[in-house]
Amino acid sequence: MKPIIYITQKLPEQAVAKLRDSYEVRMWHDDQTAAPREELLEQVKEAHALWTMLSDTIDRPVFEAAPNLKIISNLAVGYNNIDLDAAHEYGVMVTNTPEVLTETTADLTFALLLATARRIVEADQTVRSGEWKSWTPMGMTGQNVGGATLGIIGMGRIGEAVARRGQGFGMNVLYHNRTRKSLEDVKYAALDELLQTADFVVLLTPLTKETKGMIGERELSLMKETACLINVARGGVVEEAALYEALKAKKIWGAGLDVFEQEPVPTDHPLLTLPNVTVLPHIGSATVQTRLAMMEMNAEAIAACLEGRSVQNRVC
Ligand code: NAP
Repeated sequence: MKPIIYITQKLPEQAVAKLRDSYEVRMWHDDQTAAPREELLEQVKEAHALWTMLSDTIDRPVFEAAPNLKIISNLAVGYNNIDLDAAHEYGVMVTNTPEVLTETTADLTFALLLATARRIVEADQTVRSGEWKSWTPMGMTGQNVGGATLGIIGMGRIGEAVARRGQGFGMNVLYHNRTRKSLEDVKYAALDELLQTADFVVLLTPLTKETKGMIGERELSLMKETACLINVARGGVVEEAALYEALKAKKIWGAGLDVFEQEPVPTDHPLLTLPNVTVLPHIGSATVQTRLAMMEMNAEAIAACLEGRSVQNRVC
C-alpha cells in the first residue's frame, strides 16, 4: 500500500503530479471551498502526510485522530493555524514555505500602502458610480508617500523587502523588532517611537502569543492623525474594534487590510462600512508563479519526509 497524502484544498494537477507515482494522493474536490472540519478529521485517520492551508485549524483533536501522521506541510510562511506544541508531542514534523513568497508579498504590501494613501479603490468607485462630476482642487486628495516615514513592525524577510521598496520611493524607513539588525539607511525605533513618527505603519510580524492584539487602542492613539496602518501580517495582530473606533473618529487617516481576525471577513463587519479602509481577501502571496513555487516546496517536504530524507523549512 502506498502512503497516503491528504490535501485540504483542490490544487492544480501540476503541483501534485510528481507525488502520484509513489503516494496515494487524496484531495478535497471543490476548488471554491476548503475541506470541512469533519472531512479533515475523517481523512487524517489514515493519512501519513497532511498538506494544509493557512485557513485550516490544525489543533489537538486533529493530531489525536491521526495515528499514521508524520508531516504537516502548510501552504504559507505563517503557521499560527497549527498547534506546534501538539505537533511536537505527537512527533509530527511541520513545514512552511518561506522566502519564495517574500518579494510577491512585499509587492502586495506596497500596492496596498499606495492604494490606501491615494484612495485608489474609492476613486475607482467614484468614477464607476457617476459621482465624478468635475475636477476639484481638494477632491480625492490623499497622503504623500515619497518623502514620508515608513515604520515597519516585524523587520524580517518581507519587512526588509518592503523597506527596499520604500527606499525606492524616497521614504525614510524605521523598523521595530525584538532584535536589532544592521541595515543600511534603516533605523531601529522602540515601538511607541515608531508609532508616533511613522506616516505608514506596516505590520509584518507572525501571529504569536506576543503579537496577538499588539496594535490596540493605546497604540493607535499614539499614531499621527494623518497616518495609515497597513496590515499584511495576520488579522489577530490588530484589535479590530479599536481600529474601527480610531478610523471612525479620524484619530488615524486610513487603513489597508489584507488580513482579518475572521476570514473571510463577514460582509457586515463594521470596518467594511468605512470609506478610509482598503480591504483585500488575504492575497499577499497570490501570484501564479509564487503559489506554484510554494506548492513545489510543500510537495518536496512531504516526499522528503516520507522517504526519510532531510526535510527543509521545518518549523517543528
Ligand atoms: P520573518 O522573516 O520570520 O519575519 C518576521 C519578523 O517579525 C522577524 O524579523 C521578527 O523579528 C519579527 N517579530 C516577531 N515577533 C515580534 C514581536 N513580538 N515584536 C516585534 N517584532 C517581532 O517572516 P516573514 O517571512 O517576513 O513573514 C512575516 C509574516 O507575514 C508571516 O508570519 C505571516 O504571518 C505574514 N504573511 C502574510 C502574507 C499575506 O498573504 N498577507 C503572506 C506572507 C506572510 P524578532 O524575532 O527579532 O522580533
